[in-house]
Amino acid sequence: MSCIFCKIASKEVPSDIVYETDTVVAFRDLNPQAPVHILVIPRKHVSGIHEADGGTGLEELMLSAAEVARREEIEDAGYRLVINCGRQGGQTVDHLHVHVLGGRAMSWPPG
Ligand code: AMP
Repeated sequence: MSCIFCKIASKEVPSDIVYETDTVVAFRDLNPQAPVHILVIPRKHVSGIHEADGGTGLEELMLSAAEVARREEIEDAGYRLVINCGRQGGQTVDHLHVHVLGGRAMSWPPG
C-alpha cells in the first residue's frame, strides 16, 4: 500500500485530522490555498471520482464535507467544494478527495 492518503487514513503517516467516521477521514491540506483548506477522503481506496460507484459512499463523503465546513464555521459566509479529476483536472494524488476551501472569497472561473 503506497498511497499517501491511505497511510493518512490508517494514521501510519501523521496529519492534522479534524473529523473522522467509520468511512471517511478529513485532514488539513499540507499546502493550504485558503484560510480553511481541508481534504475529505473515503477510507476505502478509490483512485478518483471516475472510479467511484454505488459502494464508494459518495453521499457520506459529501455530507462529511458539509459537516467539516459547519465545524470550521465557514458555512454562513460560504465555501467551495472541489474534486479535481485526472491530470488536466489538476489531480495530483490518486485517492479520491474533496477539497473544502473557505475563509476567503473565491473567484470564478477557477484557474
Ligand atoms: P489534488 O491536486 O486535487 O490531487 O489535491 C491533492 C492535495 O493533497 C494538494 O492540495 C496537496 O497539498 C495535498 N497533500 C499532499 N500530500 C499531503 C499530505 N501528506 N498531507 C496533507 N495534504 C497533502
